[in-house]
Amino acid sequence: SPVLGIESSCDETAGAVLDREGRVLANVVSSQHAVHGKFGGVVPELAARAHITTIDTVVAEALQQAQVSKRDLGAVAVTQGPGLAGALLVGVNYAKALSYGLQLPLVGVNHLEGHIASAWLADPTFPLPCVVLVVSGGHTHLYRREADGCSALLGCTRDDAAGEAFDKGAQMLGLEFPGGPAIDRIARSGDPQAIAFPRFRLRKSDLEFSFSGLKTSLLYKLRDMPAPPTPVQVADLAASYQESIVQVLVDNAFAALSQTGLSALAVVGGVSANSRLRALLKERAEREQVRLSLPPMAYCTDNAAMIAAAGRQVLVQRGVEPLLPLDIHPTTVPNGQGRVRPAGR
Ligand code: ATP
Ligand code: MG
Ligand code: FE
Repeated sequence: SPVLGIESSCDETAGAVLDREGRVLANVVSSQHAVHGKFGGVVPELAARAHITTIDTVVAEALQQAQVSKRDLGAVAVTQGPGLAGALLVGVNYAKALSYGLQLPLVGVNHLEGHIASAWLADPTFPLPCVVLVVSGGHTHLYRREADGCSALLGCTRDDAAGEAFDKGAQMLGLEFPGGPAIDRIARSGDPQAIAFPRFRLRKSDLEFSFSGLKTSLLYKLRDMPAPPTPVQVADLAASYQESIVQVLVDNAFAALSQTGLSALAVVGGVSANSRLRALLKERAEREQVRLSLPPMAYCTDNAAMIAAAGRQVLVQRGVEPLLPLDIHPTTVPNGQGRVRPAGR
């Protein structure tokens, strides 16, 4: 029977319904960009409050669009973490109340497992084992994923996540929040070769990323030109900055393929919505005969269809269990600007 997915880890309140075969019947996302825009980053307290006021409407709308009544649901899946604690609590407590009231099994889903599941939502026959690149607001992680659903980390960022680099770069360029889509749009009218930005791949043999030096480099370029930069300069800076990020992502992803000997690559998370990254990945995958899963835009940034899909996999593998106690696993702490970043780094 249908699975309801709920996501509230950061600044998107989302609800989705999958049918018994795992097809998406409804995928509703309410973004809080208007709430956080003027602060230039996600404000945790405001995020939690906005989830509280929106979550019931979002879930009701998803059920309505799917033409599924609460009583027809077979399970509820909810994001348990990583994410902002207050934001996660809203989704988890809502899901607990709902599943308790309806006596439905409740599955806690790791947000990154959700992003990864979006690759199979888009392409159910995508093969395993494969390489997965998770590129989002808080993560830039390369995994080797096995047929049993286990993932081994091949490499990750030493400092900022790719999405963070987009957001902070956009802020420096005076573009609106969130920065990724803004840079993507402005870059289309700019020259990606106009400004030489460093491309940080630490060593050719390893699969780590680093974006903080690039950010500093943008700061210096801006400092060295008359302020404010002209629209043409902003477009060139955006295009060149973006090019530096996406080239490193593509290089490392394909280096991971050759190191593992695999020929299937899934790229997921908010940054995988980037048009330049998508074009480069498609081009290179075709040239190197790599099977590529690049989910449609609606599954790239945060959504609940991916959470329902990951939850459904758990139910299929583990079977339905009676209601278990479920708690949040934030495992990430907001940094000074309220962005989500894994703890201990
Ligand atoms: P995480 O998934 O790591 O917990 P998150 O949930 O906040 O973090 P996502 O919603 O997956 O992150 O992705 C949001 C990020 O994606 C933001 O940093 C945003 O700027 C970036 N992003 C969205 N669209 C684009 C785009 N077209 N180009 C580049 N970056 C983009
Ligand atoms: Mg978001
Ligand atoms: Fe995310």
